[in-house]
Amino acid sequence: MENLKILYGLNEAGELISAELAGKDTGYSCPCCGIKLVLRSGEVRVKHFAHPPSSGCSLESVLHITAKKLIRTTIDKNAKGEQEISLENHCQNCGVVFSISLPMKTFSSAGLEVKVGDYICDVVGYRGDSIGLAIEILNTHEVDAIKAANLQAFWVELKAEDVLKNPEKWVPTQANLKDSYCAGCKKHINHVLEVADKFGVDRSLYTPLKNPAKATYIADIETCFKCKQEIPVFWWRGVPFCEVEPPNPKPKTIKFRNSKQYGGSYWANTCANCNMIQGDNYLYIFDNAPFKGLPLSTDAQASQGGVRVASSKSAVSEFMKVINRNF
Ligand SMILES: [Zn+2]
Ligand SMILES: [Zn+2]
Ligand SMILES: [Zn+2]
Repeated sequence: MENLKILYGLNEAGELISAELAGKDTGYSCPCCGIKLVLRSGEVRVKHFAHPPSSGCSLESVLHITAKKLIRTTIDKNAKGEQEISLENHCQNCGVVFSISLPMKTFSSAGLEVKVGDYICDVVGYRGDSIGLAIEILNTHEVDAIKAANLQAFWVELKAEDVLKNPEKWVPTQANLKDSYCAGCKKHINHVLEVADKFGVDRSLYTPLKNPAKATYIADIETCFKCKQEIPVFWWRGVPFCEVEPPNPKPKTIKFRNSKQYGGSYWANTCANCNMIQGDNYLYIFDNAPFKGLPLSTDAQASQGGVRVASSKSAVSEFMKVINRNF
């Protein structure tokens, strides 16, 4: 068996020291099995510790333990006010990746191998008595779907190799974090709420997020082509040219209106200021439409088949006519 090359050793005080920073005159031991390590460095080779072959130790288990201890140390430093932590996150609305900084003293202490409900988590960052964040180290086994769904805490999964490269920069491979939004989406969400509030549309009726799982109605803003006011407009399952009454309670600006262009009546968005009907093409279909990309009834009916096929055929052809007329 050959020596294992490992990147971190424990010094005599029990602290993890990277081979890069290790001094020649001190003794280092394996963080996993405790065997004595030999510091190796050379002109060409990356500085590392040589770990004599031993049956009880593998590179994988050394990697896993090292990553866990590095995360614990990082959280401890954060608790002492010595270290900020960078955490990569996704905007819940648009999916863009952005980093947030967990400021000093986000955590109050750290624990290894902590029981969280029915599960043991590799590392846990406490905030006072409660668990602020659980950290799972991905080595060979990723957090499985059942654990991911049932873990009663906010958590991140970090790759062991990433942790060894930089224990203060967390780039989760999986996570369950509090909903957060990028700066652009935050601003837009507030703008939607303001405009809808201005016209007295109850916030409980809609979500400003482009996520049909959050509410029956999704709100955005459009400038009325007639009075040029910024007004709230809504998406729901059934648009465009929805002839069936949308679910109640609904925003008061959604009204059953006749359109010559469409050649019939349907449930449409109307201007909260001047009452003018707002064309569905401009809201849902054209390239710069505010709800572009959300499901349309024409997609749903095509994939579901069943009850509304007959009416959907005519809806699709009507809808194509409208599109053709508009071009
Ligand atoms: Zn070992
Ligand atoms: Zn965003
Ligand atoms: Zn108007």
